[in-house]
Amino acid sequence: MKPETKPPKPDALTLSIWEQVQHSADLCIKCNICTSFCPVHNVFDGFPGPKFVGPQAQRFRSPRELSVDSSLDYCSGCGICTMVCPHGVKVMEMNAKARYKLYQKKPVPFRNRLLGRSELLGMLGSPVAAIANALFNNGFIRLLVEWVVGIHRHAPMPQFSFETFRGWFKGVHQKSGRGVQSDKKVVFFHGCSVNYYEPHVGKAAVAVLEHNGFEVLVPPQVCCGLPMLSNAEFDAARKNARANIDSLVGYARQGYKIVGTSTSCTLSLKSDYRHILDITTPDAQLVAENTWDISEFLLELAEAGDLKTDFKPLDVTLPYHSPCQLEAHNMGLPAIDLLELIPGVKVNHLQADCCGVAGTYGYKKEKYDIAMAVGESLFEQVRASGSRAAVCDSETCRWQIARATGAAMLHPIELLAKAYGLPGF
Ligand code: SF4
Ligand code: SF4
Repeated sequence: MKPETKPPKPDALTLSIWEQVQHSADLCIKCNICTSFCPVHNVFDGFPGPKFVGPQAQRFRSPRELSVDSSLDYCSGCGICTMVCPHGVKVMEMNAKARYKLYQKKPVPFRNRLLGRSELLGMLGSPVAAIANALFNNGFIRLLVEWVVGIHRHAPMPQFSFETFRGWFKGVHQKSGRGVQSDKKVVFFHGCSVNYYEPHVGKAAVAVLEHNGFEVLVPPQVCCGLPMLSNAEFDAARKNARANIDSLVGYARQGYKIVGTSTSCTLSLKSDYRHILDITTPDAQLVAENTWDISEFLLELAEAGDLKTDFKPLDVTLPYHSPCQLEAHNMGLPAIDLLELIPGVKVNHLQADCCGVAGTYGYKKEKYDIAMAVGESLFEQVRASGSRAAVCDSETCRWQIARATGAAMLHPIELLAKAYGLPGF
């Protein structure tokens, strides 16, 4: 494994990215905007809100002191507080670090460690998908899992896929000779969800990129680390982050863009590795600067006149939820503009900040009801739309909305593949 290039040492006038996050607490003017937008605070009195557990508490935290307010554990990490703060206070990021400290004085529960290991769960469940799915769909087993492990019996468990995305890409797609060879290359970061649960989303991404003349490269990669990070396992998340940076940086140096269909994976590569895990190497920066959400990437192609527009009309109006993880990219809502390039497609943008699940948060027994209360206005809008299908960029949000409403959930890339009339879609 190639060693990371060492970052320049900060001098007295240069703050590290992490110090900038910590010091942003001083910018807080106590306007309470973050608190009024916090989806958890708005439904759960036990959580005093981002201003209280964030910048206000930060002033009393000593770097040598482990004790922090345990109500912080109810923060879902959705990031809305950071997005809405008019003074640039990095509330979510400082809360994530404080939660890490919270678990320095007590062990991370086994349940949280398990939820943080989405890749390990996928590796174990995928080869025996039929059995694993039957077990997880069994009410008695789910009750037992809730009782023994603490994962809520109604939490939206994804279905394992027997065929992994990597297995399909390396074994079926490339060996069949159907893969495009081109000077235009793009790197695909598939993440755990595409690899073990939704390979059809990755296949759609490959099909759309190849239709537009790109050769798709799928380098070695591990879980982005976000499930571990959000469960306060920073050391394990950092290990994964460094492995991904090492694997991807060579492509970034050659000028290839790294695209992903998972908004949380791409957000980790773009931001969380540096702002939360404090990996501030030039390699991390280069990977961050060259990472794109797939809709963001395709919309930029469209704006440059380089996206094929040989779409077949799809006469459909679809509700669309923009997940918090997507909005944290600060790139607007590219999926809407992209989908509306398809003749006949109308997108109904649902007015809800969060579906509640926030990665693994809504899976936890004690947080399930909070997550469902957070998502209720979104679920109601999906039901009221009368549509049997809805669109969302983030996998855990899709699973949560499908579980709550019964709607068939699609990633935007699946609609694009269908509109292009690509085989299999
Ligand atoms: S963190 Fe930002 S939004 Fe929240 S109270 Fe302070 S200034 Fe206002
Ligand atoms: S990250 Fe989300 S849940 Fe946590 S304090 Fe901020 S807005 Fe509230």
